[in-house]
Amino acid sequence: MGLVETIIKKVLEKGIILTKTKISDSVYKIQIKSDAVINYDFVPGHFLRLGVGIDQDEISLKDKVRSYSVWDINKENSTIAIAIATHSKGIGTKWVETCKPNDTVYFKWKKGKFLVDDSADSYLMIGDLSALSHLYIISRNLSDNKQIESIIYSENMDDFFLDITGAKPFDFYEMSQNPSNAIIEKLEGIIPKLKGNTMVYIAGDSRVCVALTNYFRKELNWATKQIKTKPFWNPDKKGLE
Ligand SMILES: Cc1cc2nc3c(=O)[nH]c(=O)nc-3n(C[C@H](O)[C@H](O)[C@H](O)COP(=O)(O)OP(=O)(O)OC[C@H]3O[C@@H](n4cnc5c(N)ncnc54)[C@H](O)[C@@H]3O)c2cc1C
Repeated sequence: MGLVETIIKKVLEKGIILTKTKISDSVYKIQIKSDAVINYDFVPGHFLRLGVGIDQDEISLKDKVRSYSVWDINKENSTIAIAIATHSKGIGTKWVETCKPNDTVYFKWKKGKFLVDDSADSYLMIGDLSALSHLYIISRNLSDNKQIESIIYSENMDDFFLDITGAKPFDFYEMSQNPSNAIIEKLEGIIPKLKGNTMVYIAGDSRVCVALTNYFRKELNWATKQIKTKPFWNPDKKGLE
């Protein structure tokens, strides 16, 4: 084991894979058990930097970790769950396809700003498969009285998966990649139905995040604090944080 791996393992939290389940045509659910869960001050929207290329000397340092949202956390059982989509076919995909229960995993908690915010009356959730678990946990942690509308898209209806509770709070759409125009067309029918103070969460493909942020700001004049956006991946980059 090289010096870099030794340092990575010391710096990161350690856990084991408890279960691995294929939950749709292209998504795996991974449940991780770790002592680091017990005392962690978790806020819905936090994510992990997960070691996916550790102990593989040929993999560069930047390809040793990938970001995955915490889909669920159970402090009593010291477990977290994540949902990993495989459309990227990168090192993260290879990791999830080959990992197995009882494997050791290394991760780091990340907070970010794409967090639950209960201050609005109605919410719009927009994203692709990579963002679905993140939008699920945000939505589950909003107060009961909120109106929630959504556009979750993928190229294939068999890609989608239900929330960890078995609920289906979102609307799924079959759309081609980078479908900003098709989303805006759908939004024109949804936005007039939103009640009270509104907020939108947009995540996933960076091109969609940029186009829709512009649409909400410039076309609809929504204020910055109403628009929560986080690019999860960019077609020209690998391992976007
Ligand atoms: C805060 C945050 C939270 C995230 N949470 C999740 C999560 O819970 N589940 C999840 O699946 N992903 C999540 N992602 C996205 C994930 O980190 C990226 O998709 C990552 O690039 C996948 O790594 P990879 O090694 O498989 O592919 P990479 O080597 O990084 O990328 C290979 C190629 O695939 C493209 N690509 C990357 N992601 C996708 C995609 N989803 N669809 C199509 N093409 C893609 C890249 O642009 C690149 O061209 C999150 C990202 C961030 C920033």
